[in-house]
Amino acid sequence: MEKIKVGVLGATGSVGQRFIQLLENHPYFTVTHLAASEKSAGQTYGEVMKSRWKISSDIPSYAKDIIISLPDPNVTKGVQLVFSGLDASIAGEVETAYAEAGVIVLSNSKNHRMDPNVPILSAEVNAHHLDVLSAQKTKGKIITNSNCTIMGVTISLKPLMDAFGLKSVMLFSMQAISGAGYPGVPTMDILGNVVPYIGGEEDKAEVEPQKCLGTVEGGIIKSADFKISAHCNRVPVFDGHTVCVSVAFEKKPKKEEILKVWADFQGEPQKLGLPFAPNPAILYREENDRPQPRLDLDTGRGMTTVVGRLREDSILDWKWVVLSHNTIRGAAGAAILNAELLYKKGYFK
Ligand code: NAP
Repeated sequence: MEKIKVGVLGATGSVGQRFIQLLENHPYFTVTHLAASEKSAGQTYGEVMKSRWKISSDIPSYAKDIIISLPDPNVTKGVQLVFSGLDASIAGEVETAYAEAGVIVLSNSKNHRMDPNVPILSAEVNAHHLDVLSAQKTKGKIITNSNCTIMGVTISLKPLMDAFGLKSVMLFSMQAISGAGYPGVPTMDILGNVVPYIGGEEDKAEVEPQKCLGTVEGGIIKSADFKISAHCNRVPVFDGHTVCVSVAFEKKPKKEEILKVWADFQGEPQKLGLPFAPNPAILYREENDRPQPRLDLDTGRGMTTVVGRLREDSILDWKWVVLSHNTIRGAAGAAILNAELLYKKGYFK
């Protein structure tokens, strides 16, 4: 089968660059359309990114000669899907315009996440949420990723929720500076420092996991019924969000039961053998001082959720630490995995 033509919106940003890197030689998709702001439009990707590329591998050659346009569904001839890494100030209306023009949009922005008929799709967790797409009235459809901070948390909770039920969750995040985009947090604010506030982040962290872990009822998503309290902090780490999680269960499991549930966890991507599916989906590290961003971030090419330090919580039941790569598992890699799921499920012509 011929490869599906796709676009990247916000191709010059932190998330956009990851898409460009990860989509090189993808077996199902070929990138033919790149969009960004007026600052970049009209120039080739290679020219614009000469001084802005922030990933350790080179700019893939396939992207260098593509001329960046302003986001515009009318210039995307033959593109069936766009990956969006647009700034939230513009993402909402632009993504709707692409969906109206018949394009499938895989978004990383917050704008459409809480719309009841838009899945916050995490391919291992809730592939069945694709059932609500028929309730979207546009010819194309919008699907979002969750916020990058809670991506790994939700994956670690999913098999435990199914086995033991969840009552309440406390989260304490230590979020990397790349999570704020480029140029992001000023050096003077973050070097040798911790910033105990990230605008809007706690609000998202307290509602998105429940939607992601929810059920489909009457054509819309009904959020799971448990509470989350979140503290979100910016720390001087380049990539990788670490989150300390404490959980109360409906039925308190034993430690061995939790470890077994994590070790056995396989979602649809693993069962279907999708190219970006990590194996294992969840890796538990036995060492007392893991996971650490510097040591564990690239596990499963940045797609595995790395968990450690499982121990009893003296107030709730159990606590642990989760690490996930914010621009791969929390953004571009997760969206590509979602696109692979759509491909296997026959969403493309
Ligand atoms: P970023 O580095 O600031 O990149 C933003 C992108 O949006 C750039 O390509 C920029 O193009 C484009 N853009 C801005 N204003 C525009 C306009 N008016 N018209 C067209 N394009 C415009 O941000 P980011 O970190 O990649 O984040 C992008 C989105 O993903 C955000 O919604 C963010 O919350 C979300 N997200 C980020 C992460 C992460 O770890 N960074 C993880 C998950 C989700 P120019 O370069 O031409 O200005």
